Amino acid sequence: MKFYESVQRNFDKAAAFTNVPAGILSQIKACNSVYYMQFPVKIGKEYQVIEAFRVQHSHHRLPTKGGIRFSHKVDQEEVMALASLMTYKCALVDVPFGGAKGGVRISHRDYTPDQLQRITRRYTTELVRRNFIGPGIDVPAPDYGTGSREMAWIYDTYQVLKGGEIDNAACVTGKPVNQYGIRGRDEATGRGVYYGIREVFQDKMLMKKVGLDPGTEGKTMVIQGLGNVGYHTGTISHQEGGFKIICVAEIEGAIYSDDGLDIDAVLAHRKATGSLMDFPGAKNLSQRKKALEIECDVLVPAALENQIRTDNANRIKARVIAEAANGPVTADAIEILLKKGIIIIPDVYINAGGVTVSYFEWLKNLSHMRFGRIQKRFDQNTYGSLVDLVEKQTGKSINDREREMIARGADEIDLVRSGLEETMVNAYHQMRELMYKRTKIKDLRTAAFVNAIGKVASDYMNMGVFP
Ligand code: GLU
Repeated sequence: MKFYESVQRNFDKAAAFTNVPAGILSQIKACNSVYYMQFPVKIGKEYQVIEAFRVQHSHHRLPTKGGIRFSHKVDQEEVMALASLMTYKCALVDVPFGGAKGGVRISHRDYTPDQLQRITRRYTTELVRRNFIGPGIDVPAPDYGTGSREMAWIYDTYQVLKGGEIDNAACVTGKPVNQYGIRGRDEATGRGVYYGIREVFQDKMLMKKVGLDPGTEGKTMVIQGLGNVGYHTGTISHQEGGFKIICVAEIEGAIYSDDGLDIDAVLAHRKATGSLMDFPGAKNLSQRKKALEIECDVLVPAALENQIRTDNANRIKARVIAEAANGPVTADAIEILLKKGIIIIPDVYINAGGVTVSYFEWLKNLSHMRFGRIQKRFDQNTYGSLVDLVEKQTGKSINDREREMIARGADEIDLVRSGLEETMVNAYHQMRELMYKRTKIKDLRTAAFVNAIGKVASDYMNMGVFP
């Protein structure tokens, strides 16, 4: 089943629970603008024609927003599917953007950093020429195969072409911190995945359904893909939630340990030996796809789409699946898993932390100031005076460490994490409420889509109609 078809099917399933007029539903579902480009880039002594896309799925709010993927598997339908998901994701978590996505059909591993830079800058030039990028138009970000380095190149290219405009830094997010980025963007998707999983594991009703005690401590986790999202999900879930990571999979294979794996040590081993395999104290799995079939409390597919399909869905033994990647389960497989009683935390919710912190970065760029700069010292002094007063009144004093904990002002990273947690918790409760109030809505994805469709529809229905 094609990824785009899966997204459409998930949309249709939810649309049936709304009373949005059919014409508006068709407008929401369609991709508004699809831009396909080909451009030449000199690679070594040869010229190569690079194929790329940018899809803006919905203009109900502007700018449109979504990452840029570098992968040899990129095609128009994949980018359309990913752009559509961005619209629903942003609406669900109340990030006021339309959805978009970009794709460049190259394998990033086949090029040197210098070649990647030329490709990225040329792609950005094409976007500028067609008015497909800008702080109020369309704002890219990292996705599979790209990171802060590519975002810095995009910003610089935009700045060269559009110099003198005051808000240029907001033309792209996920930039390095010293290049107008924001603290906490790198970890944001993984941290958001952890907050979402934590909400589900604290939900007594849902935990009862899968026969688990509420809480995260000691629960087992399997992760497919140790890129940015998988890595941060694993480390944060372990450090802050007490999850035990029993299995991880990467391109070359998968490893398993009942005692739990230390992700940083696994990655250090991979760097030193070139592979995850033969990690001391762990068992090698015969095939990497077997990792998905291991019995665990939560399975985190954090790689690419279409990983769980009709051919392996019946063998999945996880109690909960957290879709850290976009579209890892096909629409057919979703029905099989739901029948088996597995809880699926959908991509449009669980991986929304990335775009949420991108939104904070965009706001930071428009305000031209770091979060916390104005109030940090003020808060620190106010809380300090309060502690002084209590000490004076009670005649008791607290130690330096305690004082540091209480009498402090928030740094940018504290505010970003707090805003992200608030966003993930709120969106979870919006979905949950729909699921429990509307008894015919039986799964979190349908609830997420119903919520998102309602918000996007109300924007469309409010728009002025010009004769
Ligand atoms: N590529 C990420 C996603 O799929 C982040 C998008 C963004 O930050 O705009 O959500």
